[in-house]
Amino acid sequence: MRTAIATVCLSGDLPEKLEAAAVAGFKSIEIFENDLLTFNGTNLEARQRMADLGLSPIAFQPFRDFEGWDEPRRSRGLARAARKLDTMAELGCGLLMVCSNVSPEAHGGIDRAAQDFRDLGDLAAGRGMRVAYEALSWGHHVDDYRNAWEVVRRADHPAVGLVLDSFHICAMRTDLKPIRSIPGDRIFLVQIADAPWLEMDVMQCSRHFRCFPGQGDLPIDAFMDALAATGYAGPLSLEIFNDQFRAGSARSVAVDGRRSLIYLLDRTKRAGGGSTDEEQPALPPQSRCLGVEFIEFAVDEKGSQTLGGLLAGMGFTHTGRHVSKDVSRWTQGAVNLVLNAEKDGFAHAYQITHGMSVCAIGLEVEDAAATMDRAEGLLDRPFRQPVGPGELEVPAVRGLGGSLIYFTDPTSKLSRVWDIEFRPTGAQMAGIGLTGVDHISQSMQYEEMLSWLLFYGSLLDVEKTKELDIADPGGLVRSQVIQSRDGALRIVLNGSQSLRTQSARFLSDFFGSGVQHIAFNTDDLSATVANGVPMLQVPATYYDDLDARLDLAPGRIESFARDNILYDRDEHGEYLQAYSQSFDGMFFFEFVERRGYKGFGASNAPIRLAAQARLARHPAVPRR
Ligand code: MG
Ligand code: MG
Repeated sequence: MRTAIATVCLSGDLPEKLEAAAVAGFKSIEIFENDLLTFNGTNLEARQRMADLGLSPIAFQPFRDFEGWDEPRRSRGLARAARKLDTMAELGCGLLMVCSNVSPEAHGGIDRAAQDFRDLGDLAAGRGMRVAYEALSWGHHVDDYRNAWEVVRRADHPAVGLVLDSFHICAMRTDLKPIRSIPGDRIFLVQIADAPWLEMDVMQCSRHFRCFPGQGDLPIDAFMDALAATGYAGPLSLEIFNDQFRAGSARSVAVDGRRSLIYLLDRTKRAGGGSTDEEQPALPPQSRCLGVEFIEFAVDEKGSQTLGGLLAGMGFTHTGRHVSKDVSRWTQGAVNLVLNAEKDGFAHAYQITHGMSVCAIGLEVEDAAATMDRAEGLLDRPFRQPVGPGELEVPAVRGLGGSLIYFTDPTSKLSRVWDIEFRPTGAQMAGIGLTGVDHISQSMQYEEMLSWLLFYGSLLDVEKTKELDIADPGGLVRSQVIQSRDGALRIVLNGSQSLRTQSARFLSDFFGSGVQHIAFNTDDLSATVANGVPMLQVPATYYDDLDARLDLAPGRIESFARDNILYDRDEHGEYLQAYSQSFDGMFFFEFVERRGYKGFGASNAPIRLAAQARLARHPAVPRR
């Protein structure tokens, strides 16, 4: 199956859009008329641009309000169409896309519309072109693909076919089954778009909140499954109207678009749908993540001392020194933290830009090499830097904010990375009961969230949770979690729309997106915090409210209050959490005792955010 993207998805002027699409690897493009009208050049020049970039225009759109008119408007519509077909001839484009009429003044009637399309079909066929009919979900008479198909069927003209747009069909929850009985060669174009389930008018949702497949909630896979039954072999074209995309970088949005289609066609093929991406080799399956192998901090010499001291206070032991680099390993339970104080290389550059921070995450996956192959197939950006003699090249891709995600696995040499690259210090492990990494929380621009959701979701075998809005004293923070089914990997993505939230302040202080907090598991939170780690103070009112809301055993509230522990529960179990004071004003640690509970304490997040905001305003608040 050929993939395509509509120019309307991308920001910039026509040349910028075309170039972004070509750089992302697209070979086909849908031309939006407005992009052509605003192009500073002739149609022939636009055609030459496309040819130079290796792009074919597969459709020209939209042609609106055509069918169902009395004379003289009917003839005027045909004359208008003839002009568009002439434009298309100059562009070298052979398909005109017609949207169903939205005017209440137009007449209904399937046969009447079919006759209009028969005449339009003649006009197009006379130029060796074709037309395709799309049911807009807000069309006045035709608002459903089944009616549009009946018009096309009755027009019974070889130059008249159907457009299927996954947004219009899925957002209206239209039955997908009848798609299966449409002959594939009568479908001239398939437009693909996802969207979140929003309680809003479908036109508003369509014009502002469409997103790439895999980023929203529509049943796109079921749509593709139905489409496969038709034998359709034409292009699959992204048609996304999204305010963020139109404000974002055309190049990165185009890459995301292409990634979303590669991922979609990969899923379709695995589900037995059969269609593959003609321009893309087959991918290894999504990688199952076995756990977080390590978290690496970029530090300078001083930071190495301070962070080391803090980690020691949290029960971590300095267990290893890198064989040749100024890099140390700190361990507790199954947690490995790496402090990289090198004076050149990636971590150093990261530290210069962001200050002391998490510069890399190491994930243990089933097969690191296959994960890299999949990442490259998905247009993720591999990262390489020189390795010293005897050192391993740990494969990595670029992650959020230019950080790295490394991959290790249990079967290759990578499983021995600690033995090969680090010499033990001989220090005895002690600890305050931290056993593993529960989750990693990343702060990013709100506009980036969809992009990273797609990045993680396409590469790794993870599921996403429902998006939540969390109240920060400075505004709302949108939060979404990607996690593996067994909880081996949990990443919380936070995006702030306000500039005044903690999340936003992190972005501006940090000069970009990154890891803002790491949560470690413990089996006994009360015992863990009893070790004297300075914790974030929770106000007494929280415990009054907790007492009023939940029926907890006597004494539990008092002990939570003593230890600054926040509490939540769901149908699966209980969740106890406590936060460290923020470190260097930037990131912080969380300790969690997860007793079967599936969530992340969202109901407690505003309490935490308010406490952190107070601390940020009055950093001299006395510690207990
Ligand atoms: Mg459409
Ligand atoms: Mg391990």
